[in-house]
Amino acid sequence: MKPKVAFFDFASCEGCQLAVLDLEEELLDLVNIVEIVNFREAISEKGEDYEIAFIEGSISSEHQIERIKKIRKQAKLLITIGACACTGNMQYLSNFFDFEEVKEYVYGDKAKYFDPVQSKPIDQIVNVDFQIPGCPIDKYEFLKVVKQVIAGGLPRIPNYPVCSECKMQGNECLLKKGILCLGPVTRAGCGAICCKNFKYCFGCRGLAPEFNIESFKDVLRSIGYKEKGIMAQFKIVNGKDIQLLQSGGK
Ligand code: SF4
Ligand code: SF4
Ligand code: SF4
Repeated sequence: MKPKVAFFDFASCEGCQLAVLDLEEELLDLVNIVEIVNFREAISEKGEDYEIAFIEGSISSEHQIERIKKIRKQAKLLITIGACACTGNMQYLSNFFDFEEVKEYVYGDKAKYFDPVQSKPIDQIVNVDFQIPGCPIDKYEFLKVVKQVIAGGLPRIPNYPVCSECKMQGNECLLKKGILCLGPVTRAGCGAICCKNFKYCFGCRGLAPEFNIESFKDVLRSIGYKEKGIMAQFKIVNGKDIQLLQSGGK
């Protein structure tokens, strides 16, 4: 019996689900090991008897809170996919403003029709068993994690920073050119794809474990960046961790 899996989306661009569909030929590998019973972007079936739930997107309304709690109750394993679900991504920025002002700005006098709440990543609402980071996720990493989970193992993703992958490729460091690259404190696993293509890392895979933000800030100050600019860059994807850090929670 193949385990039944379901995909659900919340506040997101749905790019991570698209990344799964983009597996193309390897999609057969996926359907060979699991039975997909709910995946709005791919099938019309709306099965409710799943064991594994993949969650994309962040929580931004009361009814989404109820929905994710219901999914959590059903799923034996709940795995978040992508930065929106794992860290809150840029939607989390609303947490740095007065929420009444945010509501007024976004909805005007229509907020009552949408029951909005401060945007949260999934693990701030329900327990999450595993996170697959990235914006979007890496489709091959997704497939690898699914295979590991089905085999009963504990999925592993890199716990070292993007710089390691970047250095191994011999890329010229963008920091040396004065460009604010978050590679030193961001979790690897993407092959430093942005830096390889002359774009800085904006931290989409979340902060690497045991990152040293203070010493990294020293480096950034030494090349001319000010505290406000540094923190703004961090907050784009990792606002939740920065907020925890500022409140002494991490
Ligand atoms: S993590 Fe990025 S690609 Fe995935 S749903 Fe969110 S915005 Fe889209
Ligand atoms: S370009 Fe970015 S990721 Fe690459 S080595 Fe420099 S800081 Fe690290
Ligand atoms: S280099 Fe940084 S921003 Fe680009 S994919 Fe990797 S973690 Fe994400």
